[in-house]
Amino acid sequence: MNASRPAPALTPSGAPETRKPLIEMRRIVKTFHTPAGDFHALKGIDLCFYEGEFVAVVGRSGSGKSTLVNMITGIDHPTAGSVFVGEVEIHRLPEGKMSIWRGKNLGIVFQFYQLLPMLTLLENVLLPMDFAGVIPWAQREDRARSLLDLVGLGDEADYLPAEISGGQQQSAAVARALANDPPMIIADEPTGNLDSKTANAVFAIFTRLAGEGKTIIMVTHDNSLARRTGRAVYLSDGGLVNSAGQEARR
Ligand code: ADP
Ligand code: MG
Repeated sequence: MNASRPAPALTPSGAPETRKPLIEMRRIVKTFHTPAGDFHALKGIDLCFYEGEFVAVVGRSGSGKSTLVNMITGIDHPTAGSVFVGEVEIHRLPEGKMSIWRGKNLGIVFQFYQLLPMLTLLENVLLPMDFAGVIPWAQREDRARSLLDLVGLGDEADYLPAEISGGQQQSAAVARALANDPPMIIADEPTGNLDSKTANAVFAIFTRLAGEGKTIIMVTHDNSLARRTGRAVYLSDGGLVNSAGQEARR
């Protein structure tokens, strides 16, 4: 482990934060090298997430939200800085180890569901279980069916994604994210493509999961949803700001 791990953060009131973070991002910089020159998508982010929190990551399109959460999921790597999840230094894991770690520890939900179209909902939820090998084989189908039940799709388990609505597909994607019972769920604009009624239904599932102790990080640009989470962090031009858009105090 890294001996130069930085000092603990401050709470919003300026008091030292005494809880141990589950996710600890330190001085995260992400620079994309483009033909037009270097583009700094994240400009030195210090941010912690704690176990059991439901946190909204809010900001305009292009502010760096996806880039930020991709640093936690390991979908992308920081140019500089560190990301610890528990004792694991995510930014140092080679891709093979990363995908195994991710499969066991993270449930990821995307804006456009990313269900496999040729597989039934049941098969979509079984896939991560087969990949990670955490859930014993004999329990997998029952578990997949009960997860689909949990998100209100008990009767649709044998449907293909194209046979159900967008909101139902996103609910199925949430069930899939829960396949290996990960402690953390990372969702990138999970309601961005849904009408407000179905968005509320999907949001209610996240709220329930947070109540059960899961740590949930949800990117959104819907302020009304963000206000209903435990905490919101605001991004603007690759930096943290407060809710009024001013640069946040560290
Ligand atoms: P958000 O999710 O908040 O809409 P992103 O994190 O996707 O924003 O992107 C932040 C900025 O970084 C945007 O200006 C985007 O164009 C830029 N960006 C994202 N990915 C790349 C990339 N692979 N190459 C170059 N620029 C990128
Ligand atoms: Mg995005």
